[in-house]
Amino acid sequence: MKKIQMNVPLVEMDGDEMTRIIWQSLKDILLIPYIDLKTEYYDLGLAKRDETEDQITVDAAMATKKYGVAVKCATITPNAQRVKEYNLKQMWKSPNGTIRAILDGTVFRTPIIVNGIKPLVIPWQKPITIARHAYGDIYKNVEYRVQGAGTAELVFTSQNGHQSRQIIHDFQDKGVIMGMHNLDGSIESFARSCFNYALDLKQDLWFSTKDTISKIYDHTFKDIFQEIYEQDYRGKFEAAQIEYFYTLIDDAVARVMRSEGGMIWACKNYDGDVMSDMVATAFGSLAMMTSVLVSPNGCYEFEAAHGTVTRHYYKHLQGEGTSTNSMATLFAWTGALRKRGEIDGIQELVDFAGKLEKASIKTIENGVMPRDLAQISDLASKQEVSTDGFLLEIKKTLDEMI
Ligand code: NAP
Ligand code: MG
Repeated sequence: MKKIQMNVPLVEMDGDEMTRIIWQSLKDILLIPYIDLKTEYYDLGLAKRDETEDQITVDAAMATKKYGVAVKCATITPNAQRVKEYNLKQMWKSPNGTIRAILDGTVFRTPIIVNGIKPLVIPWQKPITIARHAYGDIYKNVEYRVQGAGTAELVFTSQNGHQSRQIIHDFQDKGVIMGMHNLDGSIESFARSCFNYALDLKQDLWFSTKDTISKIYDHTFKDIFQEIYEQDYRGKFEAAQIEYFYTLIDDAVARVMRSEGGMIWACKNYDGDVMSDMVATAFGSLAMMTSVLVSPNGCYEFEAAHGTVTRHYYKHLQGEGTSTNSMATLFAWTGALRKRGEIDGIQELVDFAGKLEKASIKTIENGVMPRDLAQISDLASKQEVSTDGFLLEIKKTLDEMI
Protein backbone atom coordinates (compact mmCIF):
# COMPACT_ATOMS: atom_id res chain seq x y z
CA MET A 1 0.00 0.00 0.00
CA LYS A 2 1.23 3.48 -0.87
CA LYS A 3 1.71 5.72 2.15
CA ILE A 4 -0.41 8.86 2.50
CA GLN A 5 1.65 11.96 1.74
CA MET A 6 1.63 15.16 3.79
CA ASN A 7 2.63 18.66 2.63
CA VAL A 8 2.87 20.73 5.78
CA PRO A 9 4.31 19.31 9.00
CA LEU A 10 2.38 18.77 12.21
CA VAL A 11 3.99 20.22 15.30
CA GLU A 12 4.76 17.16 17.41
CA MET A 13 5.32 17.71 21.14
CA ASP A 14 6.67 14.63 22.88
CA GLY A 15 6.19 14.23 26.62
CA ASP A 16 6.87 12.15 29.71
CA GLU A 17 6.57 8.77 31.42
CA MET A 18 3.92 6.24 30.34
CA THR A 19 2.42 8.53 27.74
CA ARG A 20 5.87 8.96 26.16
CA ILE A 21 6.11 5.17 25.82
CA ILE A 22 2.60 5.06 24.28
CA TRP A 23 3.56 7.93 21.97
CA GLN A 24 6.39 5.96 20.37
CA SER A 25 4.44 2.69 20.08
CA LEU A 26 1.41 4.44 18.65
CA LYS A 27 3.50 6.09 15.93
CA ASP A 28 5.34 2.86 15.11
CA ILE A 29 2.25 0.64 15.02
CA LEU A 30 -0.58 2.84 13.80
CA LEU A 31 0.83 5.85 11.95
CA ILE A 32 4.19 5.31 10.26
CA PRO A 33 3.09 2.18 8.30
CA TYR A 34 0.26 4.20 6.69
CA ILE A 35 1.43 7.80 6.52
CA ASP A 36 4.59 9.43 5.30
CA LEU A 37 4.49 11.26 8.62
CA LYS A 38 5.80 14.80 8.42
CA THR A 39 6.30 16.44 11.81
CA GLU A 40 8.38 19.18 13.32
CA TYR A 41 9.48 17.44 16.49
CA TYR A 42 9.79 19.17 19.88
CA ASP A 43 10.81 17.11 22.87
CA LEU A 44 8.86 18.53 25.82
CA GLY A 45 10.06 15.70 28.05
CA LEU A 46 11.16 17.14 31.39
CA ALA A 47 14.88 16.45 30.81
CA LYS A 48 14.86 18.47 27.59
CA ARG A 49 12.85 21.30 29.13
CA ASP A 50 15.43 21.50 31.89
CA GLU A 51 18.34 21.37 29.46
CA THR A 52 16.89 24.21 27.33
CA GLU A 53 15.66 26.25 30.32
CA ASP A 54 12.15 25.64 29.00
CA GLN A 55 12.91 27.43 25.71
CA ILE A 56 11.77 24.26 23.90
CA THR A 57 8.21 24.80 25.18
CA VAL A 58 8.14 28.36 23.88
CA ASP A 59 9.60 27.20 20.54
CA ALA A 60 6.93 24.51 20.25
CA ALA A 61 4.17 27.05 20.91
CA MET A 62 5.66 29.45 18.33
CA ALA A 63 5.81 26.60 15.80
CA THR A 64 2.12 25.95 16.46
CA LYS A 65 1.40 29.58 15.62
CA LYS A 66 3.38 29.13 12.41
CA TYR A 67 1.92 25.82 11.19
CA GLY A 68 -1.52 25.97 12.82
CA VAL A 69 -1.80 22.38 14.08
CA ALA A 70 -0.01 20.59 16.92
CA VAL A 71 -0.32 17.29 18.76
CA LYS A 72 0.97 17.10 22.32
CA CYS A 73 1.84 14.21 24.61
CA ALA A 74 1.11 14.55 28.34
CA THR A 75 3.95 16.20 30.26
CA ILE A 76 5.02 16.42 33.88
CA THR A 77 4.32 19.71 35.62
CA PRO A 78 7.17 19.74 38.11
CA ASN A 79 6.61 20.01 41.86
CA ALA A 80 9.20 19.82 44.65
CA GLN A 81 9.38 16.02 44.40
CA ARG A 82 10.00 16.16 40.61
CA VAL A 83 12.75 18.76 41.06
CA LYS A 84 14.57 16.16 43.17
CA GLU A 85 13.69 13.18 40.99
CA TYR A 86 14.95 14.85 37.78
CA ASN A 87 17.59 17.02 39.47
CA LEU A 88 16.07 20.12 37.86
CA LYS A 89 17.66 23.56 37.66
CA GLN A 90 14.32 25.01 38.77
CA MET A 91 10.64 24.21 39.15
CA TRP A 92 9.63 24.87 35.53
CA LYS A 93 6.11 26.10 34.88
CA SER A 94 3.33 23.95 33.45
CA PRO A 95 3.99 23.52 29.69
CA ASN A 96 0.24 23.69 29.08
CA GLY A 97 0.08 27.02 30.89
CA THR A 98 2.99 28.38 28.82
CA ILE A 99 1.48 27.19 25.53
CA ARG A 100 -1.97 28.53 26.47
CA ALA A 101 -0.52 31.93 27.35
CA ILE A 102 1.18 32.15 23.92
CA LEU A 103 -1.75 30.86 21.86
CA ASP A 104 -4.45 32.61 23.97
CA GLY A 105 -6.96 29.85 23.52
CA THR A 106 -9.98 28.07 24.86
CA VAL A 107 -9.81 24.42 25.93
CA PHE A 108 -12.47 22.06 24.57
CA ARG A 109 -12.88 18.65 26.22
CA THR A 110 -14.91 15.87 24.62
CA PRO A 111 -15.47 12.28 25.79
CA ILE A 112 -15.01 9.33 23.41
CA ILE A 113 -18.21 7.27 23.48
CA VAL A 114 -18.22 3.49 23.01
CA ASN A 115 -20.92 0.81 23.31
CA GLY A 116 -20.59 -1.19 26.49
CA ILE A 117 -19.59 1.79 28.60
CA LYS A 118 -22.77 3.52 29.63
CA PRO A 119 -22.83 7.14 30.75
CA LEU A 120 -24.08 7.46 34.33
CA VAL A 121 -26.68 9.95 33.08
CA ILE A 122 -29.34 7.86 31.37
CA PRO A 123 -30.43 10.16 28.48
CA TRP A 124 -26.86 10.99 27.34
CA GLN A 125 -26.21 9.39 23.97
CA LYS A 126 -23.87 11.83 22.27
CA PRO A 127 -20.72 13.44 23.62
CA ILE A 128 -20.96 16.74 25.49
CA THR A 129 -18.04 19.09 24.87
CA ILE A 130 -17.12 21.53 27.63
CA ALA A 131 -15.48 24.77 26.46
CA ARG A 132 -13.72 26.35 29.39
CA HIS A 133 -12.58 29.96 29.44
CA ALA A 134 -9.03 29.78 30.74
CA TYR A 135 -8.41 33.33 31.97
CA GLY A 136 -9.27 35.31 35.09
CA ASP A 137 -12.19 35.29 37.53
CA ILE A 138 -11.51 33.40 40.75
CA TYR A 139 -8.18 32.08 39.34
CA LYS A 140 -6.68 35.57 39.38
CA ASN A 141 -8.45 36.91 42.46
CA VAL A 142 -7.37 39.05 45.39
CA GLU A 143 -8.73 38.08 48.78
CA TYR A 144 -8.86 39.70 52.17
CA ARG A 145 -9.73 38.38 55.61
CA VAL A 146 -11.72 40.95 57.56
CA GLN A 147 -10.77 40.74 61.22
CA GLY A 148 -13.44 43.02 62.71
CA ALA A 149 -15.80 45.92 62.14
CA GLY A 150 -14.98 48.25 59.23
CA THR A 151 -15.99 49.29 55.71
CA ALA A 152 -14.97 47.50 52.51
CA GLU A 153 -15.03 49.60 49.32
CA LEU A 154 -14.48 48.88 45.64
CA VAL A 155 -12.25 51.65 44.28
CA PHE A 156 -11.16 52.14 40.68
CA THR A 157 -8.64 54.87 39.87
CA SER A 158 -8.46 55.72 36.19
CA GLN A 159 -5.21 56.80 34.53
CA ASN A 160 -6.18 60.49 34.78
CA GLY A 161 -6.82 60.13 38.51
CA HIS A 162 -10.61 59.99 38.46
CA GLN A 163 -11.98 57.69 41.15
CA SER A 164 -15.11 55.59 41.37
CA ARG A 165 -16.04 54.21 44.80
CA GLN A 166 -18.71 51.77 45.93
CA ILE A 167 -19.32 50.31 49.36
CA ILE A 168 -19.07 46.52 49.30
CA HIS A 169 -20.18 46.03 52.88
CA ASP A 170 -20.20 47.72 56.27
CA PHE A 171 -18.77 44.96 58.43
CA GLN A 172 -19.92 44.80 62.06
CA ASP A 173 -17.72 41.76 62.71
CA LYS A 174 -15.29 39.31 61.03
CA GLY A 175 -15.82 38.26 57.40
CA VAL A 176 -14.18 37.80 53.98
CA ILE A 177 -13.78 39.89 50.78
CA MET A 178 -12.71 38.94 47.27
CA GLY A 179 -11.86 41.00 44.18
CA MET A 180 -11.67 39.49 40.72
CA HIS A 181 -11.52 40.67 37.13
CA ASN A 182 -11.72 39.72 33.49
CA LEU A 183 -10.83 41.47 30.21
CA ASP A 184 -13.05 42.22 27.23
CA GLY A 185 -10.22 41.05 24.95
CA SER A 186 -10.03 37.66 26.64
CA ILE A 187 -13.82 37.23 26.65
CA GLU A 188 -13.90 38.10 22.92
CA SER A 189 -11.22 35.49 22.19
CA PHE A 190 -13.18 32.96 24.20
CA ALA A 191 -16.37 33.76 22.27
CA ARG A 192 -14.70 33.53 18.85
CA SER A 193 -12.99 30.24 19.71
CA CYS A 194 -16.36 28.80 20.78
CA PHE A 195 -18.24 30.02 17.69
CA ASN A 196 -15.49 28.69 15.38
CA TYR A 197 -15.40 25.34 17.13
CA ALA A 198 -19.19 24.96 16.96
CA LEU A 199 -19.02 25.59 13.20
CA ASP A 200 -16.18 23.07 12.91
CA LEU A 201 -18.15 20.37 14.71
CA LYS A 202 -21.53 21.50 13.34
CA GLN A 203 -22.94 21.32 16.85
CA ASP A 204 -25.11 23.74 18.80
CA LEU A 205 -23.32 26.08 21.19
CA TRP A 206 -24.72 26.73 24.66
CA PHE A 207 -23.37 29.46 26.89
CA SER A 208 -24.36 30.05 30.48
CA THR A 209 -23.55 32.55 33.23
CA LYS A 210 -25.41 34.04 36.18
CA ASP A 211 -26.24 37.41 34.59
CA THR A 212 -29.48 37.90 36.56
CA ILE A 213 -27.46 38.18 39.77
CA SER A 214 -24.18 39.52 38.36
CA LYS A 215 -25.68 42.35 36.35
CA ILE A 216 -22.36 43.85 35.22
CA TYR A 217 -19.72 41.13 35.46
CA ASP A 218 -21.55 38.12 34.04
CA HIS A 219 -23.79 40.33 31.92
CA THR A 220 -20.70 41.60 30.10
CA PHE A 221 -19.84 38.01 29.14
CA LYS A 222 -23.38 37.54 27.83
CA ASP A 223 -23.33 40.84 25.89
CA ILE A 224 -19.94 40.24 24.28
CA PHE A 225 -21.00 36.76 23.11
CA GLN A 226 -24.25 38.15 21.71
CA GLU A 227 -22.55 41.08 19.92
CA ILE A 228 -19.94 38.89 18.27
CA TYR A 229 -22.60 36.36 17.32
CA GLU A 230 -24.78 38.98 15.63
CA GLN A 231 -21.82 40.65 13.92
CA ASP A 232 -19.88 37.70 12.60
CA TYR A 233 -21.57 34.36 13.19
CA ARG A 234 -25.38 34.44 12.91
CA GLY A 235 -25.29 33.94 9.15
CA LYS A 236 -22.74 31.14 9.37
CA PHE A 237 -24.69 29.37 12.10
CA GLU A 238 -27.91 29.58 10.12
CA ALA A 239 -26.17 28.22 7.02
CA ALA A 240 -24.75 25.33 9.05
CA GLN A 241 -28.20 24.80 10.67
CA ILE A 242 -26.84 25.03 14.17
CA GLU A 243 -27.96 27.20 17.05
CA TYR A 244 -26.37 29.58 19.54
CA PHE A 245 -28.28 29.44 22.79
CA TYR A 246 -27.75 31.48 25.96
CA THR A 247 -29.27 30.53 29.29
CA LEU A 248 -28.64 30.88 33.02
CA ILE A 249 -26.08 28.45 34.46
CA ASP A 250 -28.60 26.71 36.72
CA ASP A 251 -31.05 26.30 33.84
CA ALA A 252 -28.19 24.96 31.68
CA VAL A 253 -27.30 22.33 34.29
CA ALA A 254 -30.91 21.11 34.42
CA ARG A 255 -31.22 21.06 30.62
CA VAL A 256 -27.88 19.26 30.11
CA MET A 257 -28.99 16.49 32.46
CA ARG A 258 -32.20 15.96 30.49
CA SER A 259 -30.55 16.25 27.06
CA GLU A 260 -29.20 13.51 24.83
CA GLY A 261 -25.90 15.42 24.53
CA GLY A 262 -24.26 16.40 21.26
CA MET A 263 -23.67 20.08 22.08
CA ILE A 264 -20.81 22.35 23.07
CA TRP A 265 -21.30 23.95 26.47
CA ALA A 266 -19.26 27.10 26.97
CA CYS A 267 -18.53 27.85 30.62
CA LYS A 268 -16.79 30.59 32.54
CA ASN A 269 -13.49 29.55 34.09
CA TYR A 270 -14.79 28.16 37.39
CA ASP A 271 -17.95 26.60 35.94
CA GLY A 272 -15.80 24.88 33.30
CA ASP A 273 -13.39 23.54 35.90
CA VAL A 274 -16.22 21.95 37.87
CA MET A 275 -18.43 20.83 34.98
CA SER A 276 -15.63 19.22 32.93
CA ASP A 277 -14.80 16.84 35.79
CA MET A 278 -18.47 16.03 36.25
CA VAL A 279 -18.99 15.37 32.53
CA ALA A 280 -15.80 13.28 32.22
CA THR A 281 -16.69 11.10 35.18
CA ALA A 282 -20.31 10.68 34.11
CA PHE A 283 -19.15 9.51 30.65
CA GLY A 284 -16.98 6.79 32.18
CA SER A 285 -13.24 7.49 32.37
CA LEU A 286 -10.63 10.24 32.26
CA ALA A 287 -8.66 8.04 29.87
CA MET A 288 -11.47 8.53 27.31
CA MET A 289 -11.41 12.33 27.39
CA THR A 290 -9.83 14.29 24.55
CA SER A 291 -8.78 17.88 24.75
CA VAL A 292 -8.02 20.56 22.19
CA LEU A 293 -6.80 24.10 22.63
CA VAL A 294 -8.23 26.40 19.94
CA SER A 295 -6.81 29.88 19.56
CA PRO A 296 -8.99 32.78 18.37
CA ASN A 297 -7.00 33.03 15.13
CA GLY A 298 -7.48 29.35 14.35
CA CYS A 299 -4.50 27.39 15.73
CA TYR A 300 -5.21 23.93 17.15
CA GLU A 301 -3.30 21.94 19.73
CA PHE A 302 -4.62 18.43 20.38
CA GLU A 303 -3.87 16.32 23.46
CA ALA A 304 -5.27 13.79 25.92
CA ALA A 305 -7.01 15.22 28.98
CA HIS A 306 -5.15 12.89 31.37
CA GLY A 307 -1.60 13.11 32.70
CA THR A 308 1.51 10.98 32.23
CA VAL A 309 0.05 8.03 34.22
CA THR A 310 3.02 7.91 36.59
CA ARG A 311 1.85 4.88 38.57
CA HIS A 312 1.81 2.70 35.42
CA TYR A 313 5.20 4.06 34.32
CA TYR A 314 6.90 3.01 37.56
CA LYS A 315 5.45 -0.49 37.09
CA HIS A 316 6.75 -0.47 33.52
CA LEU A 317 10.22 0.52 34.74
CA GLN A 318 10.18 -2.42 37.13
CA GLY A 319 9.53 -4.72 34.18
CA GLU A 320 5.91 -5.35 35.10
CA GLY A 321 3.28 -5.50 32.38
CA THR A 322 0.99 -2.51 31.95
CA SER A 323 -2.47 -2.04 30.51
CA THR A 324 -2.64 1.71 29.95
CA ASN A 325 -5.42 3.16 27.83
CA SER A 326 -4.10 4.92 24.71
CA MET A 327 -7.48 6.10 23.36
CA ALA A 328 -7.20 9.77 24.32
CA THR A 329 -3.65 9.95 22.93
CA LEU A 330 -4.79 8.22 19.74
CA PHE A 331 -7.63 10.72 19.34
CA ALA A 332 -5.17 13.58 19.85
CA TRP A 333 -3.25 12.27 16.82
CA THR A 334 -6.33 11.64 14.69
CA GLY A 335 -7.70 15.09 15.59
CA ALA A 336 -4.45 16.70 14.49
CA LEU A 337 -4.12 14.61 11.31
CA ARG A 338 -7.74 15.34 10.33
CA LYS A 339 -7.26 19.07 10.90
CA ARG A 340 -4.02 19.05 8.88
CA GLY A 341 -5.83 17.16 6.11
CA GLU A 342 -8.72 19.63 6.11
CA ILE A 343 -6.48 22.69 6.00
CA ASP A 344 -4.20 21.25 3.30
CA GLY A 345 -6.99 19.64 1.28
CA ILE A 346 -5.69 16.06 1.72
CA GLN A 347 -8.87 13.98 1.82
CA GLU A 348 -6.92 10.72 2.27
CA LEU A 349 -5.53 12.01 5.54
CA VAL A 350 -8.98 13.07 6.76
CA ASP A 351 -10.36 9.64 5.82
CA PHE A 352 -7.49 7.81 7.51
CA ALA A 353 -8.07 9.71 10.77
CA GLY A 354 -11.73 8.69 10.69
CA LYS A 355 -10.90 5.05 9.95
CA LEU A 356 -8.35 4.86 12.75
CA GLU A 357 -10.87 6.27 15.24
CA LYS A 358 -13.51 3.80 14.04
CA ALA A 359 -11.04 0.91 14.28
CA SER A 360 -10.13 1.80 17.86
CA ILE A 361 -13.79 2.07 18.92
CA LYS A 362 -14.66 -1.15 17.10
CA THR A 363 -11.83 -2.96 18.89
CA ILE A 364 -13.29 -1.99 22.27
CA GLU A 365 -16.82 -2.80 21.15
CA ASN A 366 -15.55 -6.25 20.07
CA GLY A 367 -14.55 -6.77 23.69
CA VAL A 368 -10.79 -6.11 23.47
CA MET A 369 -9.76 -3.30 25.81
CA PRO A 370 -7.28 -2.01 28.40
CA ARG A 371 -7.87 -2.67 32.09
CA ASP A 372 -9.57 0.60 33.07
CA LEU A 373 -12.31 -0.05 30.51
CA ALA A 374 -12.56 -3.79 31.21
CA GLN A 375 -13.40 -2.83 34.79
CA ILE A 376 -16.42 -0.73 33.81
CA SER A 377 -17.61 -2.25 30.52
CA ASP A 378 -20.88 -4.16 30.63
CA LEU A 379 -20.10 -6.30 27.54
CA ALA A 380 -20.71 -10.00 28.14
CA SER A 381 -17.30 -11.14 26.92
CA LYS A 382 -14.26 -8.97 27.51
CA GLN A 383 -10.55 -9.49 27.00
CA GLU A 384 -8.08 -7.33 28.88
CA VAL A 385 -4.96 -6.53 26.84
CA SER A 386 -1.59 -4.89 27.52
CA THR A 387 -0.64 -1.36 26.49
CA ASP A 388 1.04 -2.48 23.25
CA GLY A 389 -1.37 -5.40 22.84
CA PHE A 390 -4.24 -2.93 22.55
CA LEU A 391 -2.46 -0.95 19.80
CA LEU A 392 -1.72 -4.18 17.91
CA GLU A 393 -5.37 -5.22 18.15
CA ILE A 394 -6.45 -1.82 16.79
CA LYS A 395 -4.02 -2.35 13.89
CA LYS A 396 -5.66 -5.72 13.13
CA THR A 397 -9.11 -4.09 13.09
CA LEU A 398 -7.81 -1.23 10.94
CA ASP A 399 -6.18 -3.57 8.40
CA GLU A 400 -9.46 -5.47 8.08
CA MET A 401 -11.25 -2.19 7.40
CA ILE A 402 -8.79 -0.92 4.77
P1 NAP B 1 -2.86 10.96 35.53
O1 NAP B 1 -1.58 10.77 34.84
O2 NAP B 1 -3.99 11.44 34.71
O3 NAP B 1 -3.25 9.59 36.25
C1 NAP B 1 -4.09 9.46 37.37
C2 NAP B 1 -4.70 8.06 37.42
O4 NAP B 1 -5.78 8.01 36.49
C3 NAP B 1 -3.75 6.97 36.98
O5 NAP B 1 -2.95 6.54 38.05
C4 NAP B 1 -4.73 5.93 36.48
O6 NAP B 1 -5.38 5.26 37.55
C5 NAP B 1 -5.76 6.77 35.81
N1 NAP B 1 -5.43 7.04 34.39
C6 NAP B 1 -5.16 8.24 33.82
N2 NAP B 1 -4.92 8.09 32.52
C7 NAP B 1 -5.03 6.77 32.25
C8 NAP B 1 -4.87 5.99 31.07
N3 NAP B 1 -4.55 6.57 29.90
N4 NAP B 1 -5.06 4.66 31.15
C9 NAP B 1 -5.38 4.09 32.31
N5 NAP B 1 -5.54 4.77 33.46
C10 NAP B 1 -5.36 6.10 33.44
O7 NAP B 1 -2.69 12.02 36.73
P2 NAP B 1 -1.58 12.12 37.87
O8 NAP B 1 -1.06 10.78 38.25
O9 NAP B 1 -2.19 13.01 38.87
O10 NAP B 1 -0.40 12.94 37.22
C11 NAP B 1 0.78 12.36 36.67
C12 NAP B 1 1.61 13.42 36.01
O11 NAP B 1 0.90 13.95 34.90
C13 NAP B 1 1.94 14.61 36.90
O12 NAP B 1 3.34 14.84 36.87
C14 NAP B 1 1.20 15.78 36.31
O13 NAP B 1 1.94 16.97 36.39
C15 NAP B 1 1.01 15.36 34.89
N6 NAP B 1 -0.21 15.89 34.23
C16 NAP B 1 -0.08 16.35 32.96
C17 NAP B 1 -1.17 16.78 32.25
C18 NAP B 1 -0.97 17.26 30.84
O14 NAP B 1 0.10 17.21 30.31
N7 NAP B 1 -2.02 17.70 30.20
C19 NAP B 1 -2.45 16.72 32.82
C20 NAP B 1 -2.57 16.22 34.13
C21 NAP B 1 -1.45 15.79 34.82
P3 NAP B 1 -4.84 3.87 38.20
O15 NAP B 1 -3.51 4.19 38.76
O16 NAP B 1 -5.90 3.61 39.23
O17 NAP B 1 -4.80 2.84 37.12
MG1 MG C 1 -10.24 20.87 38.04
